[in-house]
Amino acid sequence: MADNPKGILYLVATPIGNLADLTFRAVEVLQAVDFIACEDTRHSRPLLDRYNIDKPLTALHEHNEVAASAKLLDRLGQGESMALISDAGTPLVNDPGFPLVRLAVERGVSVVPVPGACALVAALSASGLAPSRFAFEGFPPRTSPARRTLLEGLADDARTLIFYESSHRVLAFVKDIASVLPPQRRIVIARELTKIHETIVRCTITEAIGLIEADPFMQKGEFVVLLEGAPPKPKDDLTAEQMRVLKLLLEECSVKTAALLAAKITRARKELLYQAALMLADKK
Ligand code: SAM
Repeated sequence: MADNPKGILYLVATPIGNLADLTFRAVEVLQAVDFIACEDTRHSRPLLDRYNIDKPLTALHEHNEVAASAKLLDRLGQGESMALISDAGTPLVNDPGFPLVRLAVERGVSVVPVPGACALVAALSASGLAPSRFAFEGFPPRTSPARRTLLEGLADDARTLIFYESSHRVLAFVKDIASVLPPQRRIVIARELTKIHETIVRCTITEAIGLIEADPFMQKGEFVVLLEGAPPKPKDDLTAEQMRVLKLLLEECSVKTAALLAAKITRARKELLYQAALMLADKK
């Protein structure tokens, strides 16, 4: 890289716990730019001190992101260069930076990623779950009904599902998972990755609740929760979404009408829906 880069916005990944996880290139870039934007200057200073990076720091957090982004990019227009870092891991991955990058792209500014640690990628790589197709869902909603609705929508997804979760909601989240998904589905809970108390629990959904309840440390620290994707469906099975639509319609219509409308809405076979509707009506 150039000794004195001009007008470039670097997105620099920083460690997610272990301070040694900063790349050589990240150090070079942070030492070369004119200034560094970060979430919290007090948080980033110890990391930068450790690598003898003595550059002006400016705060870019959720509350000032849009207004501050334009001003920072004006400075790049005048020939300065900057790096964006977050408190941990890759900027923009559930961290500030999107308005800045979007505006930079709109203005034709060079945006250069400097890759490194990212909790979801670290967790996926060590999970033992299928890694080639995955869906990252970020933080699940805070309330149980909203979490269950989200999980119902993902129940048939064949991809590995990845969530971030906080220590005080991890047990409630796993309980919601158990109430929506089949008990034998595999779950991986990756806690405190790269830190002294790193723990990776691999088990079934049913086992996970007991393990978390039995170990007080399993509700402390930072978490990535991963779920095995849904197994392939036999051709004649209705998906969870098709069943959901059918159940809603059955609350208002006859078995025949519900099956007919559900077929139009979901494109599933009418005969299958009719059989399922008969069974659901029997259970009422
Ligand atoms: N930008 C970060 C990244 O690249 O992973 C994520 C930032 S997000 C605000 C913070 C969340 O990431 C935490 O609440 C936790 O769910 C997850 N996380 C971050 N560091 C972690 C770690 N060392 N172990 C497990 N999860 C972690």
